[in-house]
Amino acid sequence: MLSTMQDGPLSLANLLRYATSVHADATVTTWTGRAARRRTFGELGARAARLANALRGLGVGPSDRVATFMWNNSEHMEVYATVPAMGAVLHALNIRLFPEQLVFIANHAEDRVVFVDGSLVSTFEDVLPRLHTVRHVIVVNGDASALRAPRGVEVHDYETLLEAQPGVYDFLVLDERSAAAMCYTSGTTGDPKGVVYSHRSLYLHAMHVTTPAAMGLAASDTCLAIVPMFHVNAWSLPFASMLSGASLLMPDRFLQPEPLLAMMEAERPTTAAAVPTIWTGLAARLATHPQDISHLREVVVGGAAMPPTLMKTFEEQHGVKVVHGWGMTETSSVGTVAHPPAGAAGEDRWRYRVSQGRFAPLVEFRLKDDNGTPVPHDGASLGELQVRGPWVTGSYYSPSDEPVEAGAFDDGWLRTGDVGRISPDGFLTLVDRAKDVIKSGGEWISSIDMENDVMAHPAVAEAAIFGVPDERWDERPCVAVVLRNGAGEPADAATLREHLAENWAKWQLPERWTFVAEIPKTSVGKFDKKALRRQYADGRLAFIRLD
Ligand code: AMP
Repeated sequence: MLSTMQDGPLSLANLLRYATSVHADATVTTWTGRAARRRTFGELGARAARLANALRGLGVGPSDRVATFMWNNSEHMEVYATVPAMGAVLHALNIRLFPEQLVFIANHAEDRVVFVDGSLVSTFEDVLPRLHTVRHVIVVNGDASALRAPRGVEVHDYETLLEAQPGVYDFLVLDERSAAAMCYTSGTTGDPKGVVYSHRSLYLHAMHVTTPAAMGLAASDTCLAIVPMFHVNAWSLPFASMLSGASLLMPDRFLQPEPLLAMMEAERPTTAAAVPTIWTGLAARLATHPQDISHLREVVVGGAAMPPTLMKTFEEQHGVKVVHGWGMTETSSVGTVAHPPAGAAGEDRWRYRVSQGRFAPLVEFRLKDDNGTPVPHDGASLGELQVRGPWVTGSYYSPSDEPVEAGAFDDGWLRTGDVGRISPDGFLTLVDRAKDVIKSGGEWISSIDMENDVMAHPAVAEAAIFGVPDERWDERPCVAVVLRNGAGEPADAATLREHLAENWAKWQLPERWTFVAEIPKTSVGKFDKKALRRQYADGRLAFIRLD
């Protein structure tokens, strides 16, 4: 029996129409260092029409890739809202990548147009001659005439381009399964891999982000999007704000704790999203420069494990609830979010809060061991997490139709490369990335758990634990520590090892400790353990050995 329901595509063109009319008063605010500039969703709608006309005039048609090389700001939001809505494919390039990776990604994706932030022109100019498919560069908030482009590439100024266009554009109904956007994985091993999102997958995922099971975004919210728009589409915040009418607050290039806090003081966001390292920096600044940030009703943290002590600092000292989530480029971002079940109280509640969280509806999950045998969801047994669902990628983008890394999939399920356990009520706790797992004498030591314990020591600001080769045990944990500035008693390796001995067996306690000024970070702000392992192997990491 068929239903009597009408069929309507989940299209980002419809979303643009909806957001810019029904939520015309919502705003996108961009921080300029000392003040803010504001545009309404209504104004965004008019500018989107001009932009679509401009892009069509430059020859952009269905499925053409339109890239961005930009900070989070209102113009970036305009490109986000417009490009998928006109049937082209949005591709936010990571502005922090090494030139080789950037060149590989832009050529692989066959980007045709690139929007470049004025402040990033000189960085972009260096790679532009090697981008073989780019025909147009549009400079936003900068001096287009300063950009030297190779023959065959036209350079435009964003505002001049928009001014010349009519303010109406007929955004057509689109096939919900067609490509809307793409992102590349950070590629810590091998070449970065492309994930192509559909209108349907982005729409469904953004709807989930707006629910209370995730961020609970509402028209009464102002959402501070610290997570870059090139990191899994800023975890869908641009689309989720268009769905919910939540206003957006964009930090542009002012991402250090001091300007972020000045912006918060002026604009009083109600919610925010960022990786843990951002919150570490904010907590350190707040310790010496107190400020009321309790206007934040809730903030979402993911992309890497959030140390429980940091979570408690925000909740207990600043009145800000930190919600932990897990996801990947391949899962459109959100796979799990850690809202405790009804009735959980005290330590039990914290146990849920510090886990990676409960699986979203539509994200199916299973664990498999090294032999491919399913592992029970008993809250104890460990295995590699596999997921599938309508916002999980089923393959990687391949211009030649040759499959890219087919081994990343197991009978239609995505192998996440994350190792953890799942409780019977669907909460995920990760212990490691498969490639970061430390196996000492055949036994696993969870680097995430151990890092969290080291970071629970009051003298420690950050700690990363990585496996190093060992003749006797094959592998042993090595700890890289950043000490907190002026935090009372400084700690040495022996003190920190003693601190760990409260929770860890003697054979698990690390012998090798290194004290560094900064943990190397990836282009999206996660601990870069590959870099640490390389520094160790090259003998560049001076460490203390406790035997
Ligand atoms: P990316 O695609 O760059 O966002 O990286 C995805 C990977 O980040 C996941 O496969 C995990 O290894 C890691 N990750 C994301 N969220 C968390 C989290 N809450 N805790 C631990 N690791 C995480």
